[in-house]
Amino acid sequence: MNNLQTNLLNNLQSGSPDHWHREIDAIRQHLGKKLLILGHHYQREEIVAHTDLQGDSFQLSAAAAQNLDCETIIFCGVHFMAETADILANSPENLAQRDGRRVDVILPDLDAGCSMAEMATRHDVELCWNSLTNLLDPKEIVPITYVNSTAELKAFCGQHDGIACTSTNAQAVLREALQQNSQRQCVLFFPDQHLGRNTAIKMGISEEQMSLWNSNESDFGGNSVKQIQNSRIILWNGYCCVHQKFVVGHIDEIRKTFPNIRVIVHPECRRDVVEKADESGSTAFILKRITESPAGSQWAVGTESRFVERLARQNPDKIIVNLAFQPSYCETMGLIDLPKLTAMLQAVESGSKRNIIRVDDRVAPAALLCLRRMLQANT
Ligand code: SF4
Repeated sequence: MNNLQTNLLNNLQSGSPDHWHREIDAIRQHLGKKLLILGHHYQREEIVAHTDLQGDSFQLSAAAAQNLDCETIIFCGVHFMAETADILANSPENLAQRDGRRVDVILPDLDAGCSMAEMATRHDVELCWNSLTNLLDPKEIVPITYVNSTAELKAFCGQHDGIACTSTNAQAVLREALQQNSQRQCVLFFPDQHLGRNTAIKMGISEEQMSLWNSNESDFGGNSVKQIQNSRIILWNGYCCVHQKFVVGHIDEIRKTFPNIRVIVHPECRRDVVEKADESGSTAFILKRITESPAGSQWAVGTESRFVERLARQNPDKIIVNLAFQPSYCETMGLIDLPKLTAMLQAVESGSKRNIIRVDDRVAPAALLCLRRMLQANT
């Protein structure tokens, strides 16, 4: 950030929320359809209030791909989401329809990353792939990346006949990967071990048919040759620090306080938590399930707490509580606040956009291929 930008942000930070709200409203009105503001479910309430669309990373990516009017997307989420939006919004087809004009995707705080996505680097995944393909025919292995991953990893999957998945379509993607061709016997799933394990168990694959790849270990990620050869799923050793905080003790405690409560958790939670819960599913599933439940329903929700708190506000006829005693917030999502959103909008309006996320042209085509397979997969 240069001195001018630092001064601008300092001035903004000394303002009041009312001032920022008025400023944001005025700029949005002025820019009209040229601007699209997307907000993830885990964002602060005051940011969500200014978004054109709120959703999970899958829904927001699809919106970015479909909007042909806007010139700028401000993505109130984390880095990998902005990368995905850039790849989809600037696909060759979209560029052709806009006479070559690119859409700039802006992330209001460049430190808003995802610790899970950072747990699998392309370098480490390539080392893993090289080891695996010393043992197995590459045609037998399907690399699958959770959409919560860097563009580099999506490109890796695109280049190796792999695919991306979301927490909504993970089961359909895994099933297709293992059935599409009898030659393909094994999936390498990264970066989230819990989503991979929970999904595979739902499909009837036992824990004995899985192995956990630890990139810090030599010799097949800490596994024996036999373990790898017998694995249907090889799970990367990554996790989400927000969802990993939930433990079975939280479920026991909440059931003591509310004997009739239903426990619903995200599949990024640990296996024993998902097993003990009444239901599990993606953020979109949790939203639908609770919204459509009858008045008087009681829910303990094991996912990001800003989202749970919003659900509780939007459903005052139900009891909706965080599964854990302490809220579990995604800290990097929370980095985006009103002063930063205002500063980004002022920069767009003045023609000096910054914080533009642009995926390298050497990476984007293969990552797009991988994302297209994901968007086409059944849910
Ligand atoms: S909630 Fe977890 S997976 Fe989602 S962005 Fe935050 S750290 Fe990443």
